[in-house]
Amino acid sequence: MKINEIKVNRFIAKSKIKGIDFVINPYVGCPNACMYCYATFIKKLSGHDEEWGSFLDVKDCNYTLKKISVEGKTYLMSSATDCYNLYEKKYEITRNILKQLIKFNFNLIIETKNELILRDIDLLKQIKNLKVVISLNTLDDKFRSEIEKNSTILSRLKTLSILKQNGIYTILNISPIFPYLTDYKKIIEKTRLLVQEYQFEFLNLKNEYKRKVLKYIKEKHSNYYLEYAKIYLLNDNTYFANLKEEIEKYCQSENLKFIFKSLD
Ligand code: SF4
Repeated sequence: MKINEIKVNRFIAKSKIKGIDFVINPYVGCPNACMYCYATFIKKLSGHDEEWGSFLDVKDCNYTLKKISVEGKTYLMSSATDCYNLYEKKYEITRNILKQLIKFNFNLIIETKNELILRDIDLLKQIKNLKVVISLNTLDDKFRSEIEKNSTILSRLKTLSILKQNGIYTILNISPIFPYLTDYKKIIEKTRLLVQEYQFEFLNLKNEYKRKVLKYIKEKHSNYYLEYAKIYLLNDNTYFANLKEEIEKYCQSENLKFIFKSLD
């Protein structure tokens, strides 16, 4: 892993995401190296040409949050990295930002796949309007390890459980849903006592990772390749339209709180 420590003026940025005022990305790059990562566009913006997941810029920042920019606002940490990636253990950039944030009255959504978030439970418990979102899209750790590095299914389930026991609002983001490979019902059965809410997000393939994911499906799940080609090369949306309807019916019948993050 190539680590660079970089000086930045601010660690917050205005957000274009619906319902989010500001995003906080304490790092550039992401050691989780998910094969399907939508954030690889950051490479171009930050002047990196290395493989996604092989570099990490650690933001060294003296920025002080001001009450006026925080109070009543909704913050997302993070949109283009995992703020609890393995290197956060050493650098504590996320922890130091949280120490500033807890002084204010605001809404915070933290998205992570890593159990390192549990280190900061002391701070998290002081945030009134906090939601923690953990993503997973399978219960099969072999499949998981082929498409993501670092954090096992078991550790994510354990993380959800401990967060919930500590009174923290937990959301399971079943994402990205890989056609024919993600069994959302099995995931819900396994997690319904661990979370207050579900999010669903369908696999969206664009840019450089589209080629990567389709190659992976061809090699490891060739029986589904034609179906993937229909969806991602011929833009046939029938599979996801039907699945959305099925998930809606299922969640309503099971009385689950849920949202879809995106349909495209
Ligand atoms: S955790 Fe998120 S930002 Fe990091 S590689 Fe995976 S999808 Fe990308």
